[in-house]
Amino acid sequence: MNSKVSIFWFRRDLRLEDNVGFLEALKGDFPVLPIFIFDTEILDKLPKDDARVTFIHQRLQKMRSILQNEWGSSLAIYRGIPETIFKGLLGEYNVQGVYTNHDYEPYAKERDKRIQELLEKNDIGFKTFKDQVIFEKNEVIKDDGNPYVVYTPYMKKWKERFNADLIKIHDTLLYLQNLIGQTELPNLSLSDIGFQTSSIKVVDYNVAPSLIQRYEDTRNYPAEENGTSRLGPHLRFGTVSVRKMIKKAIVEKNEIFWNELIWREFFMQILWHYPRTVTEAFKPKYDRIVWRNKEEEFEKWKKGETGYKLVDAGMRELNETGYMHNRVRMLVASFLCKHLLIDWRWGESYFAEKLLDYEMSSNVGNWQWAAGSGVDAAPYFRIFNPMTQVTKFDPGEKYISKWVPEHTTSTYPLKMVDHREARERCLKVYKDAVG
Ligand code: FAD
Repeated sequence: MNSKVSIFWFRRDLRLEDNVGFLEALKGDFPVLPIFIFDTEILDKLPKDDARVTFIHQRLQKMRSILQNEWGSSLAIYRGIPETIFKGLLGEYNVQGVYTNHDYEPYAKERDKRIQELLEKNDIGFKTFKDQVIFEKNEVIKDDGNPYVVYTPYMKKWKERFNADLIKIHDTLLYLQNLIGQTELPNLSLSDIGFQTSSIKVVDYNVAPSLIQRYEDTRNYPAEENGTSRLGPHLRFGTVSVRKMIKKAIVEKNEIFWNELIWREFFMQILWHYPRTVTEAFKPKYDRIVWRNKEEEFEKWKKGETGYKLVDAGMRELNETGYMHNRVRMLVASFLCKHLLIDWRWGESYFAEKLLDYEMSSNVGNWQWAAGSGVDAAPYFRIFNPMTQVTKFDPGEKYISKWVPEHTTSTYPLKMVDHREARERCLKVYKDAVG
């Protein structure tokens, strides 16, 4: 009989330290086989040079080499449908338990249910843990038991429930000697999984005290080099622990930065409670809006050729780097939904394809916010003026000049719509739909 092992399944928690489920596995009675599965159900929908796949692959190789060189172990990497991979593992090892961290997205919930059923049929426990948030599911709800759909009371309750114990660090490194003692576990190159290296790279995050302390002075200005933390992809793929980041906010006494991390959890619990919002307006009457949905206008928006320089700068930044500053995300999203009357779902899916920090809950939540259809959304008649946004947030036009260097020349496209006319049109269409 093969020797007994537990499996730890890495997914969106790609780090060896301060990882809740990983620690639980390591503290158990059996050596731990760490695995990662490149899920073909997800991969098959992505472009072959997807930058996030490159990032995940590089990160896994780094973790694998640390485990090989420092711990006499490794990380097994597979490609396929998770159930098929698990069936193979059950044939190869005497599996005593499978450990993993929670994932709240609709597809992940369904996938995990199937894996749990498979394991249960084989009398194997599937042990799952909260890791990527401080509070999940029903942990912060109203006194009447309903979820919060407005941010501020959610944030207040979140803080009421919070105490320092929740950010204690899970010291996995003390237990890494409990990993399986095999250095030759399966590995895959990027081309083995059908991908190639992307030219777009995830930048390091920056949570230096100087940045966090000045966050509210710098965070609204896209031209600022170090104006925001760039934590997005790192929180998304778990290359950093959220507990450590909350701790930073507290140590540096920055409530505003802390609140941003709570926005992330707010949208996560919204997605958990209302998975229908992935495709439906949170406020149903907003699905009565008659979108214009002009393909050729959508193309201009995607390419950053709308003739509105801050909108174009944002879209070009996104296309070239996989990142766009939050202020500009708000503007380009509003412009698409309101000036062009293109369905927020089109914009959401374009962002999903391009953003390195793409997170279903935050993306859907923020797009619905911009369209006016979501939780805690701004009233629909508040329409960003793309010119005023320049004066407020890029007064020296440094950001614009970086991404749209030709904006002062005759080669730059004319405005694709007139701001006033588009505004009036939007107000009419929205009013007809939602009253
Ligand atoms: P910082 O300003 O340094 O903030 C730190 C962290 O707080 C972020 O990394 C993020 O985890 C969280 N955060 C900040 N603002 C928000 C917010 N409004 N909603 C939720 N979490 C927030 N963020 C994503 O992580 N993934 C997305 O797919 C995403 N799509 C968006 C789509 C639109 C239309 C808009 C307007 C915003 C979107 N955001 C999304 C939120 C926000 O723009 C990014 O989190 C932020 O720009 C990432 O940069 P940063 O890490 O430097 O942020």
